[in-house]
Amino acid sequence: MTPCNGKNSPKILIAGAGIGGLTTALSLQAAGLGNIQIIEACPRMRAVGAGINIQPAAVRELTELGLGRALEAEAVATARLQYHHRYGGLIFSEPRGRAAGYRWPQFSVHRARLQELLLAEVRRRLGAAAVLTGRRLLHYEQAASKGQRSVLVFTAESPRPLRCDLLIAADGVNSAARAVMHPHEGPPLGNGIWMWRGVSEGPPFLDGRTMVIFGCNSQVKAVVYAVSRPDTTGNCQLNWVVETHGDAGPAAGDTLPAAGEWDQSAPAEAVLAHLDDWRTGFLDLHAVVSAAPRILRYPMIDRDPLPSWVDGRTVLLGDAAHPMYPTGSNGASQAIVDARVLAYELAHCEVDEALSRYDALRRPQTTQLLAAHRRLEPDRLLHQVEMLAPDGFTDIRQVLPAHKLVDVRSCTRHVTGVDAAGLNARSSWNVPVRTA
Ligand SMILES: Cc1cc2nc3c(=O)[nH]c(=O)nc-3n(C[C@H](O)[C@H](O)[C@H](O)COP(=O)(O)OP(=O)(O)OC[C@H]3O[C@@H](n4cnc5c(N)ncnc54)[C@H](O)[C@@H]3O)c2cc1C
Repeated sequence: MTPCNGKNSPKILIAGAGIGGLTTALSLQAAGLGNIQIIEACPRMRAVGAGINIQPAAVRELTELGLGRALEAEAVATARLQYHHRYGGLIFSEPRGRAAGYRWPQFSVHRARLQELLLAEVRRRLGAAAVLTGRRLLHYEQAASKGQRSVLVFTAESPRPLRCDLLIAADGVNSAARAVMHPHEGPPLGNGIWMWRGVSEGPPFLDGRTMVIFGCNSQVKAVVYAVSRPDTTGNCQLNWVVETHGDAGPAAGDTLPAAGEWDQSAPAEAVLAHLDDWRTGFLDLHAVVSAAPRILRYPMIDRDPLPSWVDGRTVLLGDAAHPMYPTGSNGASQAIVDARVLAYELAHCEVDEALSRYDALRRPQTTQLLAAHRRLEPDRLLHQVEMLAPDGFTDIRQVLPAHKLVDVRSCTRHVTGVDAAGLNARSSWNVPVRTA
């Protein structure tokens, strides 16, 4: 196996400067692979999105890339996850991150802060020209010249294709590369749920590090967590999502908004109408929703798993490879893990072998996760609680037997994906790089 770092370093083009694409560039560079260019469709990198979570497995990877301290300064180390009835009663609570035995925390952070941090680090480590904005990948073709295999990358902005030895497509859920690789797939799949999202300034609740979930998504569900520590006014940034189902949401199979139009602004009243009789006790959800300067509405979507992520010298990564429902807080985490595995394999094997090893490791793992997200397992139990106690309760043990609550723990583990002992014991994917 001839590794492709050092003198053999191929010319690598990454499509998409999202969390996956930027982490890939940093991972390749850290593994000794030079010659990296990112193309990004947006003409200017804008601070967009709301809160995301980074699971300990991905925090480990960012820490081993030297970003642990910077991330910690931007994020909240999530300590607990709690499920509550819409009238406030506590259904279930479990520790997260370090409190759950991981050597690395789980972080809640604003997506824009994370993207800015990664982008600044890419520019610092790879040079200001490493990210070419305003270049949208349209399609690619495999090519060969003088016995060397390469990829021609066609963009919307220029008739002249870019040539590279390897195209890593991290161009998100509406990936253009995926559409070339799997031309009959069609648009993403909706599951009938709409998500209203916002980030509001407000006082922290509970310990300031707890993610809370109210209600159940067979009716209405709300998720709230802090993505910043309190500032000098005592307020922090609270990320929230309200999910509605049935008449208020797109039916499975409905035509969904086209690429780039999936974040549609909505007024607070549209959200509050679903929370009319809610009494969430320790957190004034109505005030949180009303305080959001901007509310966006997204359909909950994913795609079916693929039979392959590799086509010649083109490979899919992150949401381009395995978009899944955000219910397990896994989108960014899985993209980060993909990036590190791919860089590790490229540093140890020649390109074809590396791509096939990456595909063999990551595709089954993410396929399993995707299926676990689709089962919406914790939601089934929340639904059961709602049916048994529509008017709320003071003690969940009067509603459900204890073993049912143990089931929730195993459900959340399915979607979080990695056991703490396994992650803590695994050797690092850092690649020792020899300097000349
Ligand atoms: C604008 C935006 C806001 C988001 N907000 C949230 C959020 O609030 N919460 C959450 O959990 N998840 C959010 N996500 C999704 C989340 O970031 C991803 O699930 C996760 O981080 C995986 O990252 P990714 O890099 O694979 O994909 P993405 O983060 O989607 O990044 C893909 C990148 O590729 C670029 N791109 C797309 N098409 C092309 C093309 N043809 N050529 C070149 N570049 C292209 C996009 O502009 C984007 O920068 C958001 C994604 C986007 C794009």
